Amino acid sequence: MKYISTRGKAPKLGFEDVLLTGLASDGGLYVPDKLPFYSPKQIASWAGLSYQQLAYKLIKPFVGSSIPARDLEAIIGKSYGSFRHEAVTPLVQVGHNEWILELFHGPTLAFKDVALQLLGHLLDYVLDRRNERVVIMGATSGDTGSAAIEGCRRCKNIDIFILHPNKRVSEVQRRQMTTAIGKNIFNLAVEGNFDDCQQMVKDCFADQSFLKGKRLVAVNSINWARIMAQIVYYFYAAIHLGAPHRAVSFSVPTGNFGDIFAGYLAKKMGLPVDRLVIATNRNDILHRFLSQNQYQKTRLAHTLSPSMDIMVSSNFERMLFDLYENNGMAINTLMQDFQKNNGLSVPAKRLAGARQIFDSYAVNDKLTCETIKAVFEKSEYLLDPHTAIGVKAGRECRGRLSTPMVTLATAHPAKFPEAIQKAGVKQNPDLPYHMRDLFKRKEKYDVIENDLKQVQAYVSKRI
Ligand SMILES: *Cc1c(COP(=O)(O)O)cnc(C)c1O
Repeated sequence: MKYISTRGKAPKLGFEDVLLTGLASDGGLYVPDKLPFYSPKQIASWAGLSYQQLAYKLIKPFVGSSIPARDLEAIIGKSYGSFRHEAVTPLVQVGHNEWILELFHGPTLAFKDVALQLLGHLLDYVLDRRNERVVIMGATSGDTGSAAIEGCRRCKNIDIFILHPNKRVSEVQRRQMTTAIGKNIFNLAVEGNFDDCQQMVKDCFADQSFLKGKRLVAVNSINWARIMAQIVYYFYAAIHLGAPHRAVSFSVPTGNFGDIFAGYLAKKMGLPVDRLVIATNRNDILHRFLSQNQYQKTRLAHTLSPSMDIMVSSNFERMLFDLYENNGMAINTLMQDFQKNNGLSVPAKRLAGARQIFDSYAVNDKLTCETIKAVFEKSEYLLDPHTAIGVKAGRECRGRLSTPMVTLATAHPAKFPEAIQKAGVKQNPDLPYHMRDLFKRKEKYDVIENDLKQVQAYVSKRI
């Protein structure tokens, strides 16, 4: 399989190169040039497969011949062996034909583990083969950083530097990053906010001279391998709920649009997905696009669901590219407009294309709390605030009751105890057993000024 850039000007790449690249050289994002398609008969034949077996079937065509079958199987086995649930992503029922797909059984209790466990092992495998050592830099407002560190901590060929805004991530989130001790792991607490961190990482990608020739790899959701890994659980859940014989809808707590874009691809690959609900918090640029054709950047709002606090959604470009039938030139123009005006809108025909598949709903903090409380009172199931937004949006956008509505549970409630308290739920969300000593573990991190030169000097001294 070959990969093409959404802006049409960068060279086509194979899987291995896409894995090791961030943005394409033309500023675009890589996507497969052609998706595999599965018939209902094929999908039905996967009914008895384990998560790992299904992952192998779905991931193999994207990887192509770049990793031998046996090795890929072993990589997938290792990646999901770190999950604390045998089903990897189990389904739980919370209402009438209403389901929660628990994606938080990985090492850091958020759905990002599903992709980053695999990404870490894939990177280590290809780097071993190339005899190459690379640098990973990432900015995090909480979840990505710890999931990236957990994914890469055992990788011999990677030095990983994660920037987080000092004192602005929750204690659980900080400890999940800073208690992962290893010679190749560096946590930088930047005296600034998340945007400062993100800007510095972007600047590092733009001018890599401080890396002395080493390659810089992206682990945010612009990395194609993350999207690929996330396609699997849509199939896994839908098959358990009756696909291909019946359609299933999904509600997805959305920030950068990586997770829900994987659901969109699953549908294009033949999975009978009825509706995909884009669930946002007050940072609702995607909801404004879908309801008013206004993809317009506004100020960042800080909410009880911090992992969805974004101003623009980086993977949205991948969806636009598809809506524009892979016309890279058109996307180029659109994104230039967006740069200039901080906003864009699309012709009615394109928007109608998106509305055929997506619904959207924005949920504020008050409704988030009410949903946490209501679901706990009715079903004694504790939702984290991100998942609560998914449940609420799913309920608002519910069509036929005979079609299962599955909300993706993107984080474990113990990661966000503050929201649970605010919701007025008396039940304490306990950390899972494997993390019970998190608050006793030793931490290691360095506080650093909000200054690009200092960050670059820090990195270059340690690689
Ligand atoms: C990252 C994250 C999201 C948003 O996922 P996207 O792929 O960026 O849309 C939602 N919930 C949680 C808990 C997250 O960590």
